[in-house]
Amino acid sequence: MRLLLLGGTSEASQLARRLAERGDIEATLSLAGRTARPAASPLPTRVGGFGGAEGLARYLSDNRIGAVIDATHPFAAQMSAHAVAACAQAGVALAVLTRPPWRIEAGWREVGDAAEAAEALGEAPRRVLLTVGRLSAGAFRAAPQHHYVLRSIDAPDDLPAGAEIVLARPPFALADERALMTSRRIAIVVSKNAGGEATRAKLDAARELGLPMVMIRRPPLGAATTFYDVESALGWIHRGAS
Ligand code: NAP
Repeated sequence: MRLLLLGGTSEASQLARRLAERGDIEATLSLAGRTARPAASPLPTRVGGFGGAEGLARYLSDNRIGAVIDATHPFAAQMSAHAVAACAQAGVALAVLTRPPWRIEAGWREVGDAAEAAEALGEAPRRVLLTVGRLSAGAFRAAPQHHYVLRSIDAPDDLPAGAEIVLARPPFALADERALMTSRRIAIVVSKNAGGEATRAKLDAARELGLPMVMIRRPPLGAATTFYDVESALGWIHRGAS
């Protein structure tokens, strides 16, 4: 069976490694091409969009793909919606590999998007750690009274004036997250509710330091079969995607 793995997450990288070790499935990893230097993968990799749901449906037929695993980030809602539509159109089996959302602690605030997160920081100037990804940084220009420390893999094009950029790639260790928050005298942390282990140390560091968090709620999951760990997704693939 030919498999298309929609990636861009550490779970997709783990699944790519497991598929490459076994070698009995012809799998291709697909990346959007957002990061300048993506981590190396042991699977053949294609980079760039498909041209919407129609383009993806065509790719699936042209390449005789038998199953798709959508292991994109929980906030990559457009790609996931396209995968549902294209797989239905091309008659290809689809499963989602994702992570459960993080639990919201007492005193933390949940919001719907980056614009609401910027508002939730309040009127008084604060020192804010932004870990929302470079594409969402621009929303915080609406709240210029704060000092932002923005941590991302690549530098954002659009960001609030005076923001300090810290370039780093997950996974992040608790000691490093604590050091980042204390050295920059952070008063509040903003994050997407990405879930998973690779970036959860910031939650533990914030809790230890007694810092509040503003958490951006994730978009709802689609209707496809969903797995929360790599082994279960592998099981589905080896059962012939059923
Ligand atoms: P998105 O808004 O859902 O997708 C926008 C467009 O990018 C899609 O319509 C598709 O273009 C293309 N695309 C997205 N993922 C792709 C993939 N794996 N392979 C080929 N094309 C892809 O996604 P996004 O939020 O921009 O995220 C882009 C990528 O970064 C995703 O692969 C995701 O896993 C990863 N990522 C996202 C976040 C986040 O917070 N959003 C965080 C970490 C990693 P076409 O319509 O032309 O096919």
